[in-house]
Amino acid sequence: MNRSIALLGLAVVIGGIVINESDSNYSNNIKTEITSKVSTTTTYLQSKVNNLIQTKQPSQTTSNNTKTASKSQTTSTGQTPILSIMDGFSVDNTYYYHFTKKTPTAVRQVFENAISAYNDTGLVNLVAGEGTSKQNRITFSIYYKDEGANTTSVELGNGGPKLIYNTNDATKHAINHATASINLNYSESVTTSVAMHEVGHALGLDHSDDMNSVMYPSNQNVTQLSEGDIDGLKNIY
Ligand SMILES: [Zn+2]
Repeated sequence: MNRSIALLGLAVVIGGIVINESDSNYSNNIKTEITSKVSTTTTYLQSKVNNLIQTKQPSQTTSNNTKTASKSQTTSTGQTPILSIMDGFSVDNTYYYHFTKKTPTAVRQVFENAISAYNDTGLVNLVAGEGTSKQNRITFSIYYKDEGANTTSVELGNGGPKLIYNTNDATKHAINHATASINLNYSESVTTSVAMHEVGHALGLDHSDDMNSVMYPSNQNVTQLSEGDIDGLKNIY
């Protein structure tokens, strides 16, 4: 059976402020906010704080499940597109990455291959480690999803950014707590090309209709970033 192989993208934006004792930047932001309102009434402050707390909840969950309908395109310059949820946000180019405990060595290896390829561009810096809540992070993992015998398309992996930002920050600086995962139900998932694709999503790249791009929606065993992929990364970082 000549089945096509789909690579999934998962993109989530979380709007709002994170209120966390250990998170001094955000705490300072709240302090600044409160200090600036000190001449107004406590009622106002209380409602403001309540609003901040409410917006902590995820405001939007988007999953571009490309198995059935893939949005793949390139820009007129051949640049690999950027996930729309990244629009307008600035994200630091250093990421701390780690693997969940159950991630087997072979999967770790293909992700490490992908990490090297992205680091070689000099545009991003993926560093082994857990990172903190204030730093960009990528969590690598595995999952098992059986598509059944009659499917024409199987999902080999998924990945995507999760942006966390302070709604009061006019500069729209965001922290990306991204994920990239491989579907171990299919042996062909454990390849550098699939890992490259899912890391691309984690970093904010969308699908490309260029078959030389690692972001082509079905697996072409491409293990090198195309010029378009690099241009896409330059656009984000
Ligand atoms: Zn994809």
